[in-house]
Amino acid sequence: MNHIGKEWSYDGLDFIGVSLAGIRTSIAMPTLSLAFDVAQGFPYLFNINHFFMTHGHLDHAAGIPYLISQKSMSAHKQPTFYMPHSMIEPMKQIMSGWAQIEKYEYPYQFVGVKETDTFEINRNYFVRPFKTVHRVDSFGYTLFHTKTKLKPAMALLSQNELREVRESGQEITQQLETPLVSFTGDTQIEFLDAAPWIKKSKILFLESTYLDQDKSIQSARDWGHTHLDEIIPRLDELECEKIVLIHSSARYSLEHALDLLIKKIPPQHQNKVILFPGR
Ligand SMILES: [Zn+2]
Ligand SMILES: [Zn+2]
Repeated sequence: MNHIGKEWSYDGLDFIGVSLAGIRTSIAMPTLSLAFDVAQGFPYLFNINHFFMTHGHLDHAAGIPYLISQKSMSAHKQPTFYMPHSMIEPMKQIMSGWAQIEKYEYPYQFVGVKETDTFEINRNYFVRPFKTVHRVDSFGYTLFHTKTKLKPAMALLSQNELREVRESGQEITQQLETPLVSFTGDTQIEFLDAAPWIKKSKILFLESTYLDQDKSIQSARDWGHTHLDEIIPRLDELECEKIVLIHSSARYSLEHALDLLIKKIPPQHQNKVILFPGR
């Protein structure tokens, strides 16, 4: 059987998904039960509980009703779909249309997002949205890891001294937040400056719809997208360990796309910039 969705891992973080401009985009992190976008609702998403929707274009969001129905037929917990506020009303109308057709109402939860939100995944992980620039209302998302650590000033104190400080009402620990994975959905390059942590994310999934001069930077921008030629000059300022390009146009075969990356990415960044293997 031909399964949709390719796996990719980096430093203990496991991903599965697909991304091809205008066709389908959805990348999941199964061990954390979360996904960024849902494409048409493929089986690798059936066990996921947190769905972070970047925007409402069908290549990213068409699978929402189908996933809701699949989840309700299994014993799974009701899934949560996080999305731009402007998507919620129309999505509810779509769900009520399906309820009419199927003569059955599925339970679901839609949550509107804004930039100041924090969504807990579990004790050690949370997701924070950031604004992106597209033809419709859109957000990207960052997965953070949190760790409680002793404050540096407390590191040299003994257990007894620490207890005394704590009993005096002073905080001895601090919360360390590390941006692990940022995911852009569809956007123009300006999103890079939308939040200070984006460029520091360990892994950045970055849309790069066009890769060569047959399509100009301007035509990428006209449709709210990013051209590889806009990314290359900014590679030096990105502190990410991996930049995973997604959403390349179907006009490039996988081979051709990889070939263009080898030709165009400066040698010092060749190991850092990759193309997501699933399309
Ligand atoms: Zn798209
Ligand atoms: Zn789009």
